[in-house]
Amino acid sequence: MPLSPDQDAEIAALRATARPTLRAVSEGMEAQLYLAHPVLDHGFVRVVDYMGDDAAICQAARVSYGRGTKSVQNDEGLIRYLMRHWHSTPFEMCEVKLHVKLPVFVARQWIRHRTANVNEYSGRYSILDREFYIPQADALAAQSAVNNQGRGEVLGAEEAARVLDWLKGDAMRAYDHYEAMISQDGQQGLARELARMNLPANIYTQWYWKVDLHNLFHFLRLRADAHAQYEIRVYADLICDLVRAWVPLAWAAFADYRLGGVTLSAQAVAVLRRQLAGEAVTQEGSGMSKGEWREFMGVWQ
Ligand SMILES: Cc1cc2nc3c(=O)[nH]c(=O)nc-3n(C[C@H](O)[C@H](O)[C@H](O)COP(=O)(O)OP(=O)(O)OC[C@H]3O[C@@H](n4cnc5c(N)ncnc54)[C@H](O)[C@@H]3O)c2cc1C
Repeated sequence: MPLSPDQDAEIAALRATARPTLRAVSEGMEAQLYLAHPVLDHGFVRVVDYMGDDAAICQAARVSYGRGTKSVQNDEGLIRYLMRHWHSTPFEMCEVKLHVKLPVFVARQWIRHRTANVNEYSGRYSILDREFYIPQADALAAQSAVNNQGRGEVLGAEEAARVLDWLKGDAMRAYDHYEAMISQDGQQGLARELARMNLPANIYTQWYWKVDLHNLFHFLRLRADAHAQYEIRVYADLICDLVRAWVPLAWAAFADYRLGGVTLSAQAVAVLRRQLAGEAVTQEGSGMSKGEWREFMGVWQ
């Protein structure tokens, strides 16, 4: 259970205190505000605050004095046009602030997305919780044979059980020593900022992460993708659901043009033209590398 009863009560109190506002609100996002959605074994994502809605994107694009919306059909067409032509600044007018609890090794990938504002839980000031990501057995897989940067077949039951035992045992032992090092019981007690170096990368951390919609879409395109590591992808998938609720028109355009769309190189377009003209093109005759060809064919097959 990622949240304590006290934390749940704080969230319930926030959700019980509605106030009238002149600001634009997204009904879908209001329904999500403050709620913690579980991810992995101890993690979560929750929306702490947001600014803007689909109309705010149109408002900015039209540099309007009012709400900036016309008909839903008109707005949808405008948002699709903006997405199609990489006219990105109107999407930057919407922002979201998330509270995320995630394993440290996932945080290391996440923090590479520099176009966000972050404030992380302090392991110098606070004592970290005894919470470690221990994968489900079916998430324990062998090194991939085709992709150096990924996993392949799920481990057999015996090997998986051994790995799980090590993961759990090592985490608990490291945490026991962390506690023993910082203890001031009969000793000076090592500073928290030093003792934490003993903790493994599957320990959980937390942060507030604020990002605009344009850069969030960039994050989601990379991290809700099949090439992303499973442990960050599950967070991205959850955030996709939140974005769908928040800005349904922008989400639909993003899903169509970016998540579901493909970018073709000039070489790929030339091959496609030859194929449409009835020519049987092979990888050798395409001018593409094996990897490019595999990805190109993967789009159509
Ligand atoms: C599947 C996958 C595998 C990866 N593997 C590795 C790996 O092996 N090793 C590794 O180190 N990283 C790896 N990464 C991280 C990746 O290289 C990027 O650092 C990460 O995805 C963040 O992307 P970004 O820089 O575009 O995002 P952001 O930092 O959010 O930046 C968004 C855009 O803003 C611009 N921008 C931001 N800051 C600057 C700047 N300082 N200078 C110029 N332009 C800037 C760029 O146009 C950038 O695309 C991987 C990522 C993925 C998705």
